[in-house]
Amino acid sequence: MPAKARDNIERLDAYVPGEQPGYAQTSGGGAVVLKFNTNESPYPPSDAVLRAVRGLSAEALRLYPPADAAEFRAAAAAAHGLTPGHVIATNGGDELLRLLITVFCEPGNGGIGTTAPSYTLYPVLAAIQDTPVCVVDRVGDDFALPGDLAQRWNDAGCRLAFLVNPHAPTGRLEPLDTVRALAEAFDGLLVVDEAYVDFAEGDALPLLRDEARGDVVILRSLSKGYGLAGLRFGYGLADPTIIATLDKARDSYNTDIVAQVAATAAVRDVDYARSTWQKVIDERARLTGELRRRGFAVPDSASNFVLAAVPGGGAARAEAIYRHCKTHGVLIRYFGNQPRLGDRLRITVGTPAQTDRLLGLIDSAP
Ligand SMILES: *Cc1c(COP(=O)(O)O)cnc(C)c1O
Repeated sequence: MPAKARDNIERLDAYVPGEQPGYAQTSGGGAVVLKFNTNESPYPPSDAVLRAVRGLSAEALRLYPPADAAEFRAAAAAAHGLTPGHVIATNGGDELLRLLITVFCEPGNGGIGTTAPSYTLYPVLAAIQDTPVCVVDRVGDDFALPGDLAQRWNDAGCRLAFLVNPHAPTGRLEPLDTVRALAEAFDGLLVVDEAYVDFAEGDALPLLRDEARGDVVILRSLSKGYGLAGLRFGYGLADPTIIATLDKARDSYNTDIVAQVAATAAVRDVDYARSTWQKVIDERARLTGELRRRGFAVPDSASNFVLAAVPGGGAARAEAIYRHCKTHGVLIRYFGNQPRLGDRLRITVGTPAQTDRLLGLIDSAP
């Protein structure tokens, strides 16, 4: 008889990651697949990253890695004008999310607050911890935050709340004043998920650097802006007392030596990363314009993707375009029956040549 898991795990609908074709397909071994469905960078990581990885000795692999990722923490702190005590390194930003819920949310009560639509991993992580989720709908065509957002999270007794900024899947950016006001009005700890902030103007760093707020955690990821989704590296920024608490509960060796060395080289070479961000920002403008010219409704995005509502036909038309692109080796994100997103497609910004290929497929879709 199979072992029985905790009831909440038995009941759990697991997180469904975006489609990932096999390694062979994306590395030239099979049909070429262009991935515009999970927001990876279209550009490779910095040469400095590859050099750092190649330079690893057998000895570095034989030994355990630094448990505190000290070099990475110092590099990230220097990049952000903070101290290493403000930084925790994690196995992708996703590990930080899980760690935050483990540390701050009780099973049974004191759960998380989110907005909808949002990153679908949040409720899954909450369900694993068996802690409640207070989902507050964003309002209007532009998916704005409702004025009573913090109040509703407070009424539900949320210990943590997650604000993706820039927002996924719309690309909408809340200004710093809005984030600060939310942190002040919310009784718990506000997690500002800045997985996409590299493509936006402005971030929540002043809340930590200049205002030393103790009620905010910022999430960063190397998956989107540094061309390192395969590495699995992210980090959190917060007041050192919060970081010290999180440190108590993480796996002792939660990031491996290859990842630490690569991630450190990546954040030290932020100039290279910035040059790729600018290319993505330029191409985002062109993709947005081209889609609008074809009748799609596309809000301005501060991220490395756009959310496009298809002209006429609604969900059926969105699905037809998605399937046509997939048949021709191009993956985009179609949301199926997710509320309010059925007639929309989320498309990662690629290189100019990749955008041309995508637009060609959209034009030839039945
Ligand atoms: C990509 C992403 C993350 C973190 O991803 P990792 O690959 O685990 O670093 C966090 N939040 C959102 C909204 C994301 O899209």
